[in-house]
Amino acid sequence: MMEDPLSLRGAPVRPLPRANRTWGTGRVCAEEGCTTKLSIYNKSPRCWQHEPVRYYLVRGKRRSKKAA
Ligand SMILES: [Zn+2]
Repeated sequence: MMEDPLSLRGAPVRPLPRANRTWGTGRVCAEEGCTTKLSIYNKSPRCWQHEPVRYYLVRGKRRSKKAA
C-alpha cells in the first residue's frame, strides 16, 4: 500500500504575507512645498523631480556627436 508522500507532509500552504511590498498610500514628496504624490511602489521619500539622481542628469549633457 503506497501512500502519497506529499499528503504525509501535511504542511498547509500558507499564503504569502504580502505579495507586493508597498510603502503606504497618500504619501507626498518630502521636498518642502512639493505636493507631488508618491507611488506606493516608490521607496524614496521624494518624487522623481526631487530625487538626487536628477542632478547628474541636469548637469551639462555631453554630446557624443563630434562637432562637424
Ligand atoms: Zn517633489
